[in-house]
Amino acid sequence: MTYRIAIAGMSTESSTFTTHRTGLADFRVGRGEELADRYPFLAGWRLPEHPEVEFVPLLQASALPGGQVLPEVYDAIEAEILERLRAVLDEGELHGFYFDIHGAMAVEGRRDAEAALAHRIRSLVGSDCVISASMDLHGQVSEDLAETVDLLTAYRTAPHLDYVETRERAVRNLVRCLVEEIRPVRAWVRVPVLLPGEKTSTRVEPAKSVYASVEEAERLDGVMDASLWVGYAWADEPRSAATVVVYGTDQGVVSAQAERIARAWWDARHEFEFCAPAGPADWCVAQAFESGQRPFFVSDSGDNPTAGGSNDVAWLLGHLLATPALASGERTAIWASCVAPDAVRTCVDAGVGARVDVQVGGVFGGGEPVAMSGEVTHVTRDDQVGGDIAVVRSGGVSAVLTSRRKPFHYVAHLQALGLEPADHDLTAVKIGYLQPDLYQAAKGWVLALTPGGVDQDLLRLDYQHVVRPVHPLDDDLADPDLTPVIFG
Ligand SMILES: [Zn+2]
Repeated sequence: MTYRIAIAGMSTESSTFTTHRTGLADFRVGRGEELADRYPFLAGWRLPEHPEVEFVPLLQASALPGGQVLPEVYDAIEAEILERLRAVLDEGELHGFYFDIHGAMAVEGRRDAEAALAHRIRSLVGSDCVISASMDLHGQVSEDLAETVDLLTAYRTAPHLDYVETRERAVRNLVRCLVEEIRPVRAWVRVPVLLPGEKTSTRVEPAKSVYASVEEAERLDGVMDASLWVGYAWADEPRSAATVVVYGTDQGVVSAQAERIARAWWDARHEFEFCAPAGPADWCVAQAFESGQRPFFVSDSGDNPTAGGSNDVAWLLGHLLATPALASGERTAIWASCVAPDAVRTCVDAGVGARVDVQVGGVFGGGEPVAMSGEVTHVTRDDQVGGDIAVVRSGGVSAVLTSRRKPFHYVAHLQALGLEPADHDLTAVKIGYLQPDLYQAAKGWVLALTPGGVDQDLLRLDYQHVVRPVHPLDDDLADPDLTPVIFG
């Protein structure tokens, strides 16, 4: 017996509180062989020990998190996935489908984007084809998605270190179901808890222990996979909440484990705290000045592009420029970064060493622009992500301005701009929890509760569609019924 498995998907994470919109140019679209690097465990589109299973890569489109996807962009990508899928089905039967998604994509004016795409795929592949999805643990699993997709799994680390492993697990479990003729049963539970990633990092408790217990569940007889989704707090959709899915061959064990993990997350709800000392911007700046430790990182968290921020909010830059010790140059700060294409063009035209007057911020509608007068200290070009990039220094504040959205997760990326975090009193980065390179370099770190499309203070956000009550938006929740829904 030989088997064929198609691969396709679409992944991004969309804040519905962000003014930015994700367009076609924001997606990196891979087709066929171009996807080989994404699945290093599939050599020549086979698992080494399963030569009888052929994988057929169709299309995978990924975008940096941001604002909602434009409907016409979603429709175009969906149409191409379905067209390629039809062509593969014309050649013969498809036994499996690997659905490579993030899980928190939002399409403007629509709901539950991944479930909609899963329905379209299911309608073509039929009910006998086994669909297996890998997801980010910040993805959302609606009951509809859980009903439509046979096998669902998610990362177990945040920051995410296990994305390749998770894809491989989704693929291997799918292959196992085909060759061993298993049709697993799955248990789905919604947990009425909605928390930001910055309070649920698996580096720290209580998420660390709960996630360790997810792996323990998977080792039990009758369980094939256990997953816990933190969910995504910056999407005002009914599906936004934590969820648990456990699947396997023993309905009793699968159901009991799903309920146990859901209960563990619920019981821990009051223990989740920011993974770094957190506070308002002036407090963060004071902490940096008082600390003798360098580099000292400040997460400018409200506009973190890798969580869905628009990357055009200059609020913290305005605050730094208005801080007397920084304005005078007595103290120094790096601020990275902001999309400001007009300002960058001015800097490129003027050249290094020139003085410029620029407006920074609000290019996608994210807050008021901030006026900055200073010296251009660096210009460069990043063809892959940021486009033309400039650094402008005013007093002691060096601001990194880009032409396109670009996260700064590596010290080397700042050093390449002539900026050495260890030589500055503070280094503010548009980020939430520090990604590994910055985390390792940090001698000090605080998280600034700055405004933006991914505001960490969820109580400041105007939710209209999230299912209530939910912790922490509502007080004094009654103990929820965490009995799983069973599918399959
Ligand atoms: Zn994530």
